[in-house]
Amino acid sequence: MDLRYYNTTINPVGLVSPAREKYVRDVHEHLKWVHRTTSGRILLNSIRRPNFPIEIRPHPTAVCNAVGGSERKPGAASLTGVITYTPFTFSSHGSCAVDHAMEKAGRLWDEILFHELVHVFRAATGSWNQAPQLTFGMRQYDDNEEFIAVLCTNIYVSDRTNKIKSGLRAGHQGFGAMTPQDARRFGLFTSSKAAFGLVKQFCADNPIFTKALSDKLADVEYNPIADFYRYPKLCELLSTIGGLTDKAKMIDALVAVGIPRPVAAQFVMLAP
Ligand SMILES: [Zn+2]
Repeated sequence: MDLRYYNTTINPVGLVSPAREKYVRDVHEHLKWVHRTTSGRILLNSIRRPNFPIEIRPHPTAVCNAVGGSERKPGAASLTGVITYTPFTFSSHGSCAVDHAMEKAGRLWDEILFHELVHVFRAATGSWNQAPQLTFGMRQYDDNEEFIAVLCTNIYVSDRTNKIKSGLRAGHQGFGAMTPQDARRFGLFTSSKAAFGLVKQFCADNPIFTKALSDKLADVEYNPIADFYRYPKLCELLSTIGGLTDKAKMIDALVAVGIPRPVAAQFVMLAP
């Protein structure tokens, strides 16, 4: 993968040799894994802009995290896309290592990188928007931008040209696996009321990218974007079931904190 073509720099800031060279080598390798896939090339080509350079640099702290977005460099007229990403922290002995075998969905190096690249893409296209409200059954996504990044990375995981992968990720809180119910076809739209509207808005914000994901990956295991483009009316209708799912999940959450089920049900059913 030609980094210059994608206006991308790997900056090993803060590292000393030989860690510097290793960092550049490793990140370039993980970018190549992304670039080898259909969905990865769709994403990288959608981000690529002559006036929007991208910098990938180590995450500034050893905490388990990676960040994607944009920043304005001093004196620069335009924004720079930024990813802070340290592959080692996501290794089995790094700070993101977890003993729990269930906590590994979406956690491979290239999957982390793809997720952050989706954030950069949203920043590059001026569509970054954390404001839209998630409904109760989607609260595991934290906010709209994380929902979009997790959704796209799950399509990347489903992409058949992506040969080494973990599994579908349930949300943005941890790396737990998606439930079979949510993973089945149209499962996203029946999981919560707001899902339909958020997917619709994402497709309106970024039509070229989302149509490419829909057309080129139409028959993969998990692609709610393709389902939205093919069956918009059905997806909208299913969001009514999503509303009922929200209520059922809300009742379960109240029961979990000790409220008797009939009382919890009454609260939720009386809510607007
Ligand atoms: Zn994120």
